Amino acid sequence: MSVRATETPEEPGEEAQEPLRPATAPGKAAADTGLTLVSHDGKPYRFDPGALCLELLTTGGPGAFARHEVLHGPADLVAWADRSRLPGGLRPTVTAAEVERARAFRDALFLLAADRAHGRPLRPEHVEEVNAVAAGPPLVSQLTSDGARVWAPGATGAQLLSTVARDAVDLFGGPHAGRVRECGARDCYLLFVDTSRPGRRHWCSMERCGNRAKVRAHRARTSAREGDPGAG
Ligand SMILES: [Zn+2]
Repeated sequence: MSVRATETPEEPGEEAQEPLRPATAPGKAAADTGLTLVSHDGKPYRFDPGALCLELLTTGGPGAFARHEVLHGPADLVAWADRSRLPGGLRPTVTAAEVERARAFRDALFLLAADRAHGRPLRPEHVEEVNAVAAGPPLVSQLTSDGARVWAPGATGAQLLSTVARDAVDLFGGPHAGRVRECGARDCYLLFVDTSRPGRRHWCSMERCGNRAKVRAHRARTSAREGDPGAG
């Protein structure tokens, strides 16, 4: 599993979080993990879901989430791999069929992760889909004679998906499975794994939902004071 703690402390004054496990992307600086998403009001923000497999869930989803679909063709899956926490330099050859499989796998994984986050039992069809994709050969990395890590040439979309599915097996079958959560904002369905030591991560992003909650709480306090003649 590619776990890396978020760089941003969850609350002001809280100690910076330390990764519990080494990241699988040694070629990338810590600041490179996470994705830049854009809110419905057009503001970009950073979201680090904490694991590679959960990064795929930002590309769309089942049912109502289909309107956020970004995996339309092979180039879109290549672009996602590039934005993901996988080490850079991966240029997989992706077919249209692999993109279709990516969407089906992602939707199953989305529902599986949501079930886990809400303490519901995992559904067999979702587990079977993850296992079926994980059963294929994964991406291969190589060492060069000058000691650099590179991707083996000839990577395919199926290999990419297998690597993501294996990451899901490690996450949902591993010690952090109980730390998979949905953002605490009522109107936000982003899923993440809390890899912080204190385990109090509540928001997808402090920059986005954490900040919105702070603003709301401040407004509620202010209006409560104004409505109470005894206050002040
Ligand atoms: Zn959120």
